[in-house]
Amino acid sequence: MISEKLQNAINEQVIAEMWSANLYLAMSFYLEKEGFSGFAHWMKKQYFEEIEHACAMANYIVKRGGTAKVDKIDVVPNGWGTPLEVFEHVYKHERHVSELVDKLVDLAAAEKDKATQDFLWGFVREQVEEEATALNIVDKIKKAGDAGIFFIDSQLGQR
Ligand code: MG
Repeated sequence: MISEKLQNAINEQVIAEMWSANLYLAMSFYLEKEGFSGFAHWMKKQYFEEIEHACAMANYIVKRGGTAKVDKIDVVPNGWGTPLEVFEHVYKHERHVSELVDKLVDLAAAEKDKATQDFLWGFVREQVEEEATALNIVDKIKKAGDAGIFFIDSQLGQR
């Protein structure tokens, strides 16, 4: 059985993952409008991935005898500049999410809940990938410059 404290903290993370999903959906719409359909496609996949994170966490709470909740999700930003700015925002946001996950691990450790720590390590590893992927795209866009941007766009469209 999961403690109420931990249950509430993971429920907050469910909301954070859904906020991330909305952020990436907003970015997807923006990129589509700007004519970057590959980047938009990549971002929409990211949207679904964040929804999956939220559902996995909610499912875990229920499995451990807790109650999963959907709560209010704050509005996300709309409108960016270049695709580089968008992906720099993704990278910054994923570093923030990593901090949130780390704090959850600390709480699970404080609650002496081994199963939840084990569950959360999966997300710690996931965040390593999320940060690396975002940073890799930022680097690619920088190197591509104005001339190569549509090449990167079509590459990411194959995700
Ligand atoms: Mg996530």
